[in-house]
Amino acid sequence: MKNEETDSFEGLSRRDFLRLASLGSGMVFLGGCGDIRELWQRQPVIAVDSWHKGVCRFCGTGCGMQIGLHEGKVVDVRGDKYAHNRGRLCIKGVMNRDILYAPDRALYPMIRNNGKLVTASWDDAMSLVAERFKDAIETYGSDSVGYFGSGQLFTEESYTASKLFKAGIRTNNVDGNPRLCMASPAYAYTGIFGLDEPMGCYDDMDHANCFLITGSNTAECHPILWERIQDRIRSRPETPIIVVDPRHTRTARDADLHLQIIPGTDVALYNSLMYEVVRRGAADEEMLAKFVTFKQGDENKDFEAFREHLSNYSPEKVAAVCGISAESIREAAYLFISSGATMTIWTMGLNQQVQGVASNQLIIALHLLTGNIGRPGATCFSLTGQPNAGGGVRDTGALSHSLPNGRKILVPEHRREMEKLWNVPEGTIKPTPGYHAVEMFKAMESGELKCALIMATNPGQSMPNTTRYRAAMEKAFLVVADAFHPTNTTIFADVVLPTSMWAEKGGVFSNSERRYHHVPKLVEAPGEARSDLNILVDFADRLGLGHILPARTPEAVWEEWRNISQYSYYNFKGITYERMKKERGLLWPCPTEDHPGTCRRYVPGEDPMAKGNDRLDFYGRPDGRAIIFIHNQQGPPEPPTDDYPFILTTGRVLEHWHTDTITGRLEELERVPVDFVEVHPADAQRLNLRQDMPVMVRSNRGGDVFRVRIVEKTREGMLFTTFHSMKRIINHATTDAYDPISKQPAYKYCAVAIEPVSTTKPAADEVS
Ligand code: SF4
Repeated sequence: MKNEETDSFEGLSRRDFLRLASLGSGMVFLGGCGDIRELWQRQPVIAVDSWHKGVCRFCGTGCGMQIGLHEGKVVDVRGDKYAHNRGRLCIKGVMNRDILYAPDRALYPMIRNNGKLVTASWDDAMSLVAERFKDAIETYGSDSVGYFGSGQLFTEESYTASKLFKAGIRTNNVDGNPRLCMASPAYAYTGIFGLDEPMGCYDDMDHANCFLITGSNTAECHPILWERIQDRIRSRPETPIIVVDPRHTRTARDADLHLQIIPGTDVALYNSLMYEVVRRGAADEEMLAKFVTFKQGDENKDFEAFREHLSNYSPEKVAAVCGISAESIREAAYLFISSGATMTIWTMGLNQQVQGVASNQLIIALHLLTGNIGRPGATCFSLTGQPNAGGGVRDTGALSHSLPNGRKILVPEHRREMEKLWNVPEGTIKPTPGYHAVEMFKAMESGELKCALIMATNPGQSMPNTTRYRAAMEKAFLVVADAFHPTNTTIFADVVLPTSMWAEKGGVFSNSERRYHHVPKLVEAPGEARSDLNILVDFADRLGLGHILPARTPEAVWEEWRNISQYSYYNFKGITYERMKKERGLLWPCPTEDHPGTCRRYVPGEDPMAKGNDRLDFYGRPDGRAIIFIHNQQGPPEPPTDDYPFILTTGRVLEHWHTDTITGRLEELERVPVDFVEVHPADAQRLNLRQDMPVMVRSNRGGDVFRVRIVEKTREGMLFTTFHSMKRIINHATTDAYDPISKQPAYKYCAVAIEPVSTTKPAADEVS
């Protein structure tokens, strides 16, 4: 049995187990899954008739896999040894087979009748949806309806939804769950380079001489990338790993240096690292002279002003702010500077803060300042949480402020370009951004948003301050398309539309490194489930807007999408379905069908969009220069008080996925608990809390009951739990304060109380 404290399995340490597992073809990275031997023996269970190339549907690592079929069913999966993941899959990847046949698949459309959801025909359900949307648009205008999408839809689906709403219905009320996870890096990259998405790639992990991992528990949340980093450590053992995280995570456990900072103090820390760079004379002067400008907000600054700003962030001053030693800051700076090629990796820990954009921009600034950019192993690289939040949502412009390929709603020329490309009259696209995620749910609350279509996501559990927004959802006419029912969102729906998932429909995902790769349709969906693309096309026809969507199959939509891209710096016209079916995906830019794809953007000779013969060309900006923005550390959004004395932060564990609508239904993964709250031993002793005791964790917004797990992982005064549990919803407590630039909510910091309770009975209105 797994030992929670030591992470060992039947006498094997986790590391030993991984070593053993890797001896087999197609390494499987298994987590704490109860009886590991039982799970291991389940692979494979039935003879496979044919193997097909595909991609994992879970995290943004985007692992390639082989999918085994037998008599029209997926009966096995294994890592694709020709893909970037080198044949490896983590435990969630292995479960791609089982998710199709998990309990609670939504099989038939449902309509709410007398307060209950009852089975209906597709025609009745879609007629009702179209009728209610039409009524709202005619009576209250097109901005009375909206769409809330997902980084788990295929690119073709997100692109189609955005086009239908922005160019057909004529509302920019198009947003989705990528706002909750990746908006801050999207704004950070765009602010600095003029274009979104990282410039590096996974290949950089094979060349880095130092890793700075900040705000990312890579070992659990992107485990196959963690293994690739470990490959580098195995081949070059002197490669240091620096981890910045308020928790002593599995990632931090293997670090050479762990900076266990107070949550929300990242801006001070990165300023201090840059202070050390400048103090040591390690700034890359050629880089700064040729390729960088300085700004504070809209105001131009120079290097002297930047140096002056940094003087407030000496390690001695910052140590107290961050709760770490000045010496550790100096050591981190030294390791970063002296490596020759440092790769920084980050994700939600930076993104989900009120200073999310500032944190992202300072990490990128550290790379610009030191010249650690555009060379193998020298890059700054954000990891995406979902399989298609980048290429599917950020790049297709399926957010309330954006249009395809980096265009913006606010820029008139961008609107005109898209109107031409979409063949709609000039002036069709409205000139102001629509509701971003939090505002969309507030608009449901106020009654301004009358109807919403929600696809492949679960805001009834994932929105911060959930109690408030669950009540808001009850006020709107809510249409929820999902592969599973019940979820914490379908329970509020007026209409539930059952959807096919993963290998039951074909389409394209894009992973963290700009790799577009194809998932084939291999099996039929259960019951009457349909693809989200099929639903959108049907919806458009019933609204009388079918002409907006001439492309009606995944392949036809992809053709439209790749053709549009050629008029932008994202150009991937050369990525055809034919190529993707043969190759293990391609990284854009990729302008022609004989182009191999681009590993490192902005590097002349490597990136086809970059011009000249110099070291770099930041072509997304008119002057070819990237910007180092000056940011100061601000106070927390909600400091602890006597009534709410703890800082709560939330995250994930290896074996579960997001709100558990999928992984929570798999027997093997269900055994790994998610309804715990980590408490530091000193706090537990002070409050007389015992292991496994039920406690209420609550803020002034709400809370839920969790089981105490006393561990030294967290800092004193801090609590951690996951947002996975369908029954214990921590987002009742989290804050809906958001970054003022990216509008991404600050899930990583709110003030809470913890107190023993006598019962663990679930709240009545949550999925049980
Ligand atoms: Fe799937 Fe991510 Fe695991 Fe790879 S690391 S198998 S993409 S969940």
